[in-house]
Amino acid sequence: MIAPSNALNFSGGPGALPESVLRQTQQAIISVPEVGLSVLGISHRSDWFAAVVAEVEANIRRLLGLGTDSHVLLLQGGATQQFSMVPMTLLRGKAQAADYLHTGYWSGKALPEARREGPVRVVWSGEAEGFRRLPGDDELHFSPDAPYLHYISNETVEGLQFHRIPGRDDVPRICDMSSDFLSRPCEADRFALIYAHAQKNIGPAGVTVVVVKDQLLQDNPADLPGFLDYRTHVAAHSNFNTPPVFAIYVVLLVTRWLQAEVGGLEAMAAINRAKAALLYGALDGSDGFYRGRTAVADRSLMNVAFNLPTPELDRQFLEEARLAGLSGLGGHRAIGGIRASIYNALTLQAVERLVGFMADFRQRR
Ligand SMILES: *Cc1c(COP(=O)(O)O)cnc(C)c1O
Repeated sequence: MIAPSNALNFSGGPGALPESVLRQTQQAIISVPEVGLSVLGISHRSDWFAAVVAEVEANIRRLLGLGTDSHVLLLQGGATQQFSMVPMTLLRGKAQAADYLHTGYWSGKALPEARREGPVRVVWSGEAEGFRRLPGDDELHFSPDAPYLHYISNETVEGLQFHRIPGRDDVPRICDMSSDFLSRPCEADRFALIYAHAQKNIGPAGVTVVVVKDQLLQDNPADLPGFLDYRTHVAAHSNFNTPPVFAIYVVLLVTRWLQAEVGGLEAMAAINRAKAALLYGALDGSDGFYRGRTAVADRSLMNVAFNLPTPELDRQFLEEARLAGLSGLGGHRAIGGIRASIYNALTLQAVERLVGFMADFRQRR
């Protein structure tokens, strides 16, 4: 048996982080070089932490090319809290329904939270077809007077990713990018609000990045709890109560890595495309032994979900993969099967190892 390694961790989330980030994190747990204290014991009111928050924000602004009309916030509560915060802010008391796309497991989790706050119209649902494809533009009839459109750019469980931006430019577009944030350029300017927790692509669990246009926060309900009001966090520079200092520090290291080592989001996207092409090529070239779950046009570059001819073979595949040192390949508990998550930190070499294992496994059947 080969021991598991971070380099071959295909976990759906929390996901693998770059080797150089892990080494710096290890060092920072003992002592942050420029401070001399452990990152776990530095005050969130220190000048050092204010500089960390400012640099994370600046790095995300630079990577996404954001203008001065938007705020970058570092919040808690995960993507799940955004399922509520968005409709609390924008749907409460409204007569017009918000438009929602129901494209998979996670967008399905956003729906009931929105319905608690106001009327919701599901523009399209893939549920009856088992979430195996995304809608075409001809199937999407958006409402011009919806308070907003909500959708998920990458359905992490099923492995479906939008390779275009749906919706009308005159209706606020809100997107959960938790599992593909900073994996490619995203035309951030066309979104009124983007949210993404860190633990799939850009850090450990505990912090959620929100990029929100100032215009969206003009006439929010006055009676929101302070903690659940975006304006509170804008005013406090993401330091309203004790933030997750450690998680935010690791996100800082990841954004530095993206800029200095990877070379920005175009370069990251090229690497991610090459990894996905290799893996999907292995599925397509297997004479139907490895069966992709999703329509070819909507394949995710982040989560590659597939099945073998029988559940028993799925089980054997996972067992032998584990013995070969490959981790995290079990599909989400909602659908089973195999899922290889190839987030930013997974290298092309790791995907080559997986593809080599897949060829070998198939040959031995
Ligand atoms: C994992 C995931 C979530 C859930 O995030 P939490 O941080 O656990 O609340 C929501 N949306 C997407 C797209 C996800 O991949």
